[in-house]
Amino acid sequence: MPEVFVGLGANLGEPAAQLKTALLAIGALPQTTVKKVSAFYRSAPIGPAGQPDYCNAVAELETALGPQALLDALLAIEDRAGRLRGERWGARVLDLDLLLYGQVVCSTARLTLPHPELALRDFVLQPLAEIAPDVKVPLMGRARDLLAQLPAPTLAEWA
Ligand code: ATP
Ligand code: CA
Ligand code: CA
Repeated sequence: MPEVFVGLGANLGEPAAQLKTALLAIGALPQTTVKKVSAFYRSAPIGPAGQPDYCNAVAELETALGPQALLDALLAIEDRAGRLRGERWGARVLDLDLLLYGQVVCSTARLTLPHPELALRDFVLQPLAEIAPDVKVPLMGRARDLLAQLPAPTLAEWA
């Protein structure tokens, strides 16, 4: 089974509760198990100004769903959580990004793997390196090394 990692984020409503609900929904997908979950971290929002802080985490999954089917399932969980799509990087009740699907590299209109912003984001690399420091990000290197290359990789925990 490939090593599959999902990034979770929320900055509206009750962010930590929404992440927990999303993890239950992911674990309830067919032939899918949540193997590991990072701590929940607090990060400053990217995108439009004036948004609340984000709560972010990363989960490792075991799944028999293929990459596109898994992404579709994640987007359906976002919809059910009440996600509205407005401005790019606008505030949201739930964001589920497919970060890594084993060593798959792809770029279609609907799915890019690895997630294109992964290596630039402390709120992805810190939780990823916490649960899988040695995981190899295709074309980029190990999670711990990517984290070490960021200027200030020190997010506080959410609570
Ligand atoms: P970012 O991708 O920079 O984190 P975002 O999460 O705000 O931005 P969304 O509006 O949630 O972006 O997603 C827009 C589209 O991105 C989705 O409909 C999906 O088809 C596409 N997409 C492509 N690759 C991925 C991926 N690896 N994970 C999640 N969505 C992806
Ligand atoms: Ca995102
Ligand atoms: Ca997204």
